Amino acid sequence: MENPIILDGRKVAQDVKDRLKPRVEYLKKKGIHPCLATILVGNNPSSATYVRMKGNACERLGIRSKRIHLPEETSTEELLHVIHELNEDHSVHGILLQHPVPAHIDERAAFEAIHIDKDVDGVTSIGFGQTAFQFGRYPSCTPAAIIQILDYYQLPIEGKYAVVVGRSPILGKPVSMMLLNRNATVTTCHSKTKNLPEIVRQADMVVAAVGKPNFIKGEWIKDGAVVLDAGYNEGNIGDADYETCRPRSSAITPVPGGVGPVTISMLLKHTVDAAEAKLAGQTRHVSNA
Ligand code: NAP
Repeated sequence: MENPIILDGRKVAQDVKDRLKPRVEYLKKKGIHPCLATILVGNNPSSATYVRMKGNACERLGIRSKRIHLPEETSTEELLHVIHELNEDHSVHGILLQHPVPAHIDERAAFEAIHIDKDVDGVTSIGFGQTAFQFGRYPSCTPAAIIQILDYYQLPIEGKYAVVVGRSPILGKPVSMMLLNRNATVTTCHSKTKNLPEIVRQADMVVAAVGKPNFIKGEWIKDGAVVLDAGYNEGNIGDADYETCRPRSSAITPVPGGVGPVTISMLLKHTVDAAEAKLAGQTRHVSNA
């Protein structure tokens, strides 16, 4: 394609944040100060950076950020105790446990301990199930960001053939469900998929969620396909090979400045949604309380 649309994640994120500002102000007037609690366990420098970025993004928008940093040697029980306290804390509307936690901790148990009403990062199995059933309030933030980008640029989803490369619980699986719910026909690929390039070549829309730098090659991309690269690898490198995929695509997300900034804005949106739900005293369809 001559001039693919470069899907500008910073612009999309700014649009989301601009629309959140009056909602935050309204909540504050009503006596509710939206608050996201972030939990960082250990000293992984990338995780520390991600948590700091999320906390700072909250504060720039007037959302309170309660930052909890636990030592590397924290046990699963100790982490669960902290999460239970945050579940009970009425001033906290969303809880984010930064992935990955140190290997000795049962991460799944910790995610599942987050109350569904505060699962603004979409990490619980109930949250995933609700997303798959199309009534989830807070889908995982990166899949939500991918849909947000498609909608912002008015790129149609219905009837398209989408190939998602990756099936992690926070990214590949939920984005597959969300695209399916929007009437795409979806194939989800993984490390045991045979003939991956052949499958990707059929796709109108490719989601790269592999965790391997420059993994998706331009020669796999059908002319005019939309490429959504969720990958973020050391050195600001995506999972799709931007230089070779861009000329084949009709639209593509760059790395950095594509899916990443929108992911953070979706976390802010979900936190504001959760604070509003608190104000409205809403109850959920399903509760894990
Ligand atoms: P993950 O948990 O490591 O999952 C990677 C997935 O890729 C797995 O399902 C794996 O298959 C699949 N895979 C690995 N090698 C493959 C191969 N050779 N062929 C086909 N599939 C293969 O990673 P993740 O947490 O989903 O993250 C994926 C990427 O997104 C990473 O680059 C990460 O940094 C990025 N990410 C970005 C954001 C953001 O805000 N932009 C947020 C989260 C993650 P199996 O299931 O068979 O192992």
